[in-house]
Amino acid sequence: MITAFLIKYGEIGIKGNNRYIFEDALVRQIRHALYGIDGGFKVHKESGRIYATATESFDSEEVIAALQKVFGIVWICPVEEIEDKGFDDLSDHCIRFLKESYPDGTFSFKVQARRGRKNYPMDSMEINAELGGRILDAMPNTHVDVHHPQVLLQVEIRNKIYIYCKEIPGPGGMPVGTAGKAMLLLSGGIDSPVAGYMISKRGVQIEATYFHAPPYTSERAKQKVVDLANEVSAFAGPIRLHVVNFTEIQMAIYQKCPHDELTIIMRRYMMRIAEELAKKNNCLGLITGESIGQVASQTMPSLLCTNAVCTLPVYRPLIGMDKQEIINISEKIGTYDTSIEPYEDCCTIFVAKHPVTKPLLHVIERDEKKLDGIEEMVQKAVDTEIVISCGHEIPEE
Ligand code: ATP
Ligand code: MG
Repeated sequence: MITAFLIKYGEIGIKGNNRYIFEDALVRQIRHALYGIDGGFKVHKESGRIYATATESFDSEEVIAALQKVFGIVWICPVEEIEDKGFDDLSDHCIRFLKESYPDGTFSFKVQARRGRKNYPMDSMEINAELGGRILDAMPNTHVDVHHPQVLLQVEIRNKIYIYCKEIPGPGGMPVGTAGKAMLLLSGGIDSPVAGYMISKRGVQIEATYFHAPPYTSERAKQKVVDLANEVSAFAGPIRLHVVNFTEIQMAIYQKCPHDELTIIMRRYMMRIAEELAKKNNCLGLITGESIGQVASQTMPSLLCTNAVCTLPVYRPLIGMDKQEIINISEKIGTYDTSIEPYEDCCTIFVAKHPVTKPLLHVIERDEKKLDGIEEMVQKAVDTEIVISCGHEIPEE
């Protein structure tokens, strides 16, 4: 019977001191993922492995789905955890475990034992051979195949003994919290939640900024962004969502600047404000959902103009992706249905009929000079931000 999950992770880049940072972050994210799931899981690390052990009954499918959201996990192995009560007891457990896992009893197999402690009375080779023999005796329709076994029975001998024969792929990546923090510009669209997901996959913790323009954008549109932040946080951990009132700035741009430049100038102010909030909150970069050529504001000349206001690096993980590829990821991570809810975004309301696709930076900068008092408006927008905590906290053990 499955009683625990053994978590295997990649070893690249986690030598020396980095190792415990990586492992501790992974343990923390696993606790976060298993929070609120039945099973009363205890998570601990032991020499190159992490174990999540149940103290109550649980639903395997649900646990595996939760673990598949934890970046840094390479393999998830449902294990039976047993006490060391001698070799006879171990082999009885292994035979019963195989019978439960493969009820028809017809398969080729190989035993692979590992000793995490050297005081076990048999070495790995002896365990493999002896256990293999006993399985063959007890299950006459099996045979050994050391090169391409259908079933690889793994036995890890540590303080306890873990037996398993299934390895389910995890999401890979790096545990969130191992790579610093970045500020995601999160709109209600399809792209930006995917962008946040992709950067957090590299271990980056995320904060988010949303620009709304009440009363032109509704409370419901804001709630949609909160919902998206909650959905992304299933992967990224808790997200602080900064909600910035953009109405005054947007109106000023609308009144003073050429309409074909609205989106570019608006985007430049969003970047400026997001960068200020990023710096205040120790973020090392910005993240957007931009992709070359997707819309007028994302042509290369437009991106040049937007980027020109930033001093922090801007991470654009979707830059080379087609819309359909982005949609596929958003469906996979479960943000798509929320993203297509039909609530107005501030950019869709103040949009020009014929936006420039080849803006010139010096022209944009000249036209921005028409915005009297803009610095005060920016300051006010920053000062009046509201922070909403999305996702649940990470439980302590
Ligand atoms: P998305 O699907 O993420 O909304 P989009 O295809 O609608 O992207 P744009 O509206 O041009 O593209 O926005 C480009 C990027 O600018 C977005 O991916 C997002 O990072 C940022 N952005 C746009 N609008 C907002 C907003 N209201 N609040 C915060 N960030 C925004
Ligand atoms: Mg958008």
